[in-house]
Amino acid sequence: MIEALIRTIPDYPKPGVQFRDITTLLQDRQGFAAAIDALSLHYTSHAFDKVLAIESRGFIVGAALAIQLGAGFVPARKPGKLPAATISQSYTLEYGMDALELHKDAIQPGERVLLVDDLIATGGTAMAAVALVRQLGGLLAHATFIVDLPDLGGMQRLQSAGIRGFALCQFE
Ligand code: IMP
Repeated sequence: MIEALIRTIPDYPKPGVQFRDITTLLQDRQGFAAAIDALSLHYTSHAFDKVLAIESRGFIVGAALAIQLGAGFVPARKPGKLPAATISQSYTLEYGMDALELHKDAIQPGERVLLVDDLIATGGTAMAAVALVRQLGGLLAHATFIVDLPDLGGMQRLQSAGIRGFALCQFE
């Protein structure tokens, strides 16, 4: 059901890319609730202090999940967006570089953190978030997504960093 509510846009944002668009899932009242329920159900036997979500689609999923899991919410943002003291981690994109920032006081040493984004592809973005959490002394052992693109290997990258990944659906 969730997979069927995700729309594919060919050649976006550039030719040859099949963009998986979760807005069609979010706008469906049953679909959005079912997605959040399924993610939180997966973690019923876990306890997290914080959900850390990646700008910007990750915020939508992460905020809803944080409430369901009884965790605080931490945004990992693009450079220059967070107002207080930050730490920064750059990462490689297909063409060029980007970076993520976290407030230095967003995570305390020893806090258990669940990483959330809408989609994992190569895992570069998620690994940057992992580096930030670990720099602050947070414990990050789980990461969750609506969509996994397994051909791009992101889940394997997470696994080799000791992180167990979970996604609601996969697209080739
Ligand atoms: P990665 O760093 O290669 O794993 O790419 C994942 C990041 O890019 C996530 O923050 C996603 O939101 C975004 N992204 C990459 N491809 C797609 C897509 O097809 N749909 C939605 N977001 C995508």
